[in-house]
Amino acid sequence: MKANAANAERKQCSEKVFDGVCRCFCRIPASVERGGKWYCGTHDPERVAARRAKRNAAYALEREREDSMLRLAEARVKALGAGRPAWRSDFGLSGGVTLSAEDADRVIARIRKLEAIARDNEP
Ligand SMILES: [Zn+2]
Repeated sequence: MKANAANAERKQCSEKVFDGVCRCFCRIPASVERGGKWYCGTHDPERVAARRAKRNAAYALEREREDSMLRLAEARVKALGAGRPAWRSDFGLSGGVTLSAEDADRVIARIRKLEAIARDNEP
């Protein structure tokens, strides 16, 4: 009798979800009431908002890290006078620099020129 009473009191979640065929009400029993509507733990608007805020914060942190790595790589490219920010598909921006063969040859030529100047100026 008690189980039947509990079942009768059980509310249906107000969220509609796509089940692969149609958009119908979520089948998970509701557990909280928000603004006059009942929701299950998954679709509780407060928990949904908290999950979204957490995800957005993580995304913003990642964007900030990527922007920082891009600025670092751009400063290195500027200092080298060659190359472009390195991007790895598995790691994103690392602050590293990718040199083409031509870029590398230019940098090597500059280093050799500087080494020659340094040798000429040795006492
Ligand atoms: Zn639900």
